[in-house]
Amino acid sequence: MTDSSLAIAITLIGLLYMPMPLMAWSVLAASRTLSVRHWCVGGALFGIGVLLVGLRIYLPEWLSFTVANACVMWGNLLRIQALKLELKRPWPTYHWVLWLAVYMVIYEWFRLEMESPFFRFGWGFGVLALCFAELARLSWQLAQAESSRSARWFSLVHMAAVAVVAVRVVLTGLGVSHPSPVAADIDAMVTTVMVLLTTVLGNFAFVGIFAERSTAKEVVLAKEQAQQLEHSRWRGRIAQLDRQRSLGAMSASISHELNQPLAAILLDANMVQQGLTSGTLTPAHLHENINAIEQNTLRASQIIQRIRNFIQPAPETFERVDVATLSVEVADLLAAEARAREVTFTFARDHALAPVMGDRIQLSQIVLNLYRNAMQAMATVPRRVIAVDVRNEGEQVVLRITDSGIGFSPQVLAGMGTEFFTTKPEGLGVGIMISRSIAEQHGGTLTFANASQEGAVATLALPAVQASPLVGRSTH
Ligand code: ADP
Repeated sequence: MTDSSLAIAITLIGLLYMPMPLMAWSVLAASRTLSVRHWCVGGALFGIGVLLVGLRIYLPEWLSFTVANACVMWGNLLRIQALKLELKRPWPTYHWVLWLAVYMVIYEWFRLEMESPFFRFGWGFGVLALCFAELARLSWQLAQAESSRSARWFSLVHMAAVAVVAVRVVLTGLGVSHPSPVAADIDAMVTTVMVLLTTVLGNFAFVGIFAERSTAKEVVLAKEQAQQLEHSRWRGRIAQLDRQRSLGAMSASISHELNQPLAAILLDANMVQQGLTSGTLTPAHLHENINAIEQNTLRASQIIQRIRNFIQPAPETFERVDVATLSVEVADLLAAEARAREVTFTFARDHALAPVMGDRIQLSQIVLNLYRNAMQAMATVPRRVIAVDVRNEGEQVVLRITDSGIGFSPQVLAGMGTEFFTTKPEGLGVGIMISRSIAEQHGGTLTFANASQEGAVATLALPAVQASPLVGRSTH
């Protein structure tokens, strides 16, 4: 092999190498971080440097020595910086600029002042070996930190390159090899091929680090999504059971509630029958009775519909909800129980109330839990009033339910909302936990405090939808 054929080989390999940073640049288009930019620019500079060395016999010395060396060194420093950025401990810019300056001053001194090819070559290749060693060390650390196979592979390839370059420097020192990268000997060829192979493989490995990382990210994301799905399924199931339990506990009063319209229907039907039998039924009476039957049937079917709506396991559907109307509807659901417990409701709302985005059934569940707790807390007190107040407050719609019950002791306030905390013999202690988690799922909060005079106040705050407000009754 002649000097010029090795030079041509180096030029060709340099040319072949050039697409590598471009490949990395386009493959990593989705994640062109600072480190990727450093890596690709560094790779391109390295390639240009190698090309200039390969074309040494055709180029002036300042270009094929000075510029070529500066490019190779600068390229290596940028690639080291890329790995340092990945490890989150980059050099300050002046650091690598200083390295480059020191390297070039010494190189040029060996070349121009001492005119020693031996020192010039030894220095150039020695520093190249150091750069590769640093790349190997950093990628090894990355491999350890991220359990990345690509980073380990990157490191091993660079360690091999360090060994080859170091042997070459030693052989040159012993006078066995020529002190030139384009010398016509087998050592030069092995070194050149190894260095270029390293940089080519290094590029693939660098892209591999990102590919592995994005796959790892996707796995974590998929795992989190699965957990979230599982969590929401679990929460949905408990919420459903809690609703069933609430209705189970309310069944006596609900059947009483249902009994009233049914009894009225029976009465009206009987009157029609009697009137027909005795011949005293006038068309006006018939009309009146049928009207009453119609009204009571409607009332009964509304009660059944309300219960069905509340109990059926519906998929979560978010819609615009008027919290004030919802709070009245839920109180209607509890009307019979409220009567039986001698509890009265009062309602107040902002006239122009903002809607909230939420699942109607889930929000009803919160309100139902709060009403039932309030009613139970008033069992032993003579005055039993639940005051419901809904207001726009800043960016939120705030529902306050104030009762005149026993209020909270400090222990109860501390324990409330933790799983299965209850002070009731028949209690399960899941109502507040579920209600709070529904509120949080809606981007809101559910808090409790003692009322200023007597009893407790529960505050449900939900993000308001900033659109046309819902206009309704101001107080009733
Ligand atoms: P449960 O009703 O099954 O006990 P909750 O989670 O709904 O479960 O309530 C937990 C506890 O919080 C109740 O046992 C009660 O001690 C307390 N609590 C809730 N609401 C009120 C209230 N309005 N006044 C006084 N104590 C309340």
